[in-house]
Amino acid sequence: MNITKLKAAIDYAANRQFYHQHWNGDVDLATPELTVAQFQQIPVVRKHHLRDHWEDIMEYGDVTDFVSSSGTTGRPVDVPVHRLQEQIWVNSVGRVLSEMGVQPGDFVIQMLSNNDMYTLGMLVCQAAKQQGVGVFRCSPQRVNRLVDIMKYHRPKFIVGNPLFLLEIAERLGDAFPSKDLLPKVAYLAACASFDANNHLTAAAQKVKEVWGFELMLNEYGCSEIGSIGFECNQHNGFHINDDYLHVELLNPETGRPVKEGEPGEVVVTTLTQPRGFAAVRYATGDIASELSTQRCTCGRYGPRLGAIIGRVDHQLKVKGQNIYPEFVLDIVEWQACTDKAVLVRYRDSLERDTVVVCVELNNDYLDKPAQAEKQLSEALMKHIAVGPEICIVEHGTIARVTAAQMSQSNGVKVPRLIDLDSEQRWSELPSCQKSRLG
Ligand SMILES: [Zn+2]
Repeated sequence: MNITKLKAAIDYAANRQFYHQHWNGDVDLATPELTVAQFQQIPVVRKHHLRDHWEDIMEYGDVTDFVSSSGTTGRPVDVPVHRLQEQIWVNSVGRVLSEMGVQPGDFVIQMLSNNDMYTLGMLVCQAAKQQGVGVFRCSPQRVNRLVDIMKYHRPKFIVGNPLFLLEIAERLGDAFPSKDLLPKVAYLAACASFDANNHLTAAAQKVKEVWGFELMLNEYGCSEIGSIGFECNQHNGFHINDDYLHVELLNPETGRPVKEGEPGEVVVTTLTQPRGFAAVRYATGDIASELSTQRCTCGRYGPRLGAIIGRVDHQLKVKGQNIYPEFVLDIVEWQACTDKAVLVRYRDSLERDTVVVCVELNNDYLDKPAQAEKQLSEALMKHIAVGPEICIVEHGTIARVTAAQMSQSNGVKVPRLIDLDSEQRWSELPSCQKSRLG
């Protein structure tokens, strides 16, 4: 822990009116020394604070960009990105490109949104240009354009959401290019690609098979903070950009740091200034599987973050047990019968939260739903003693419900947990032929 940098971060943030009230005397700004214990006493900041106290916490400064994060109601959390802060963000994303092996003169397809105040697409473009790499910007919806880029220019690298990569292959069907035309290295963003054991998720494994990538790297960040860490080619979790950020994992229940190796909420303090949002113990809501200080086999020292296994607010109680959506979906998606899956949560007539795993079956199981249900429930029971209800739905249902939810966000992250406000809306889901397992 670099206590000098942390002290500077606190002093910088203390100029914002919000922190004065929020800390309420908990932070002794007058003394030049800061101890680890004192730092760990500082109350965390959450997204709702940014929304409710925007005027007192953000500074326009020499802003060159604005990014926005979805997920709250009311005033949107628009973060001004200062000129020098943006350079830090570009450098962070550039580390992923370097790890992928990009060289000046290479080409990359960039499929993340460059619009709607979404940050990562722009940063990838800037970082690539800075490294002398040519960027083909193309949205994942324009599948024929993508095929043309691959056919005529043969880019070796591609950046995108793994779920969109699968959708592209699906939409193209027989027109999907042969493997010699496809990019060889992928930067997977806006979606988890490995699990708590650093194994590929089912979706990432499928992407690897369909596209034939030789290397796939994942990166983790959020719009309020920028890029937090990147996966190296040894696949040992995310190397934290610890020259720019200090990361802690806290127990969401107690707010205390977890022991090394235990999961906890990712809490970030920004170590470089200036910033539009100066984060002092910003609680991201993401749960990471662990924070490791062991040296990585790639030779790097410095802390590494494990897989993002869920969100604090997405923690589901199924019959009293806490479970995370990503964990459940990964189990379901590994089963031979599964084509697609999503979790749906709604309040039933007795005001209880009910969670259902909606599954679309692959072609081999379409006429064997009972067998598929058995396979799924056995797999769930093996890993989590009490599994959520399973519901086989018609093909196309999941695409429709996720599209409906995405139209209310920045359209980059594909939701894995759909919140419906009532049982009524659940029963009205279009063409949702539910065959429920008791
Ligand atoms: Zn490494």
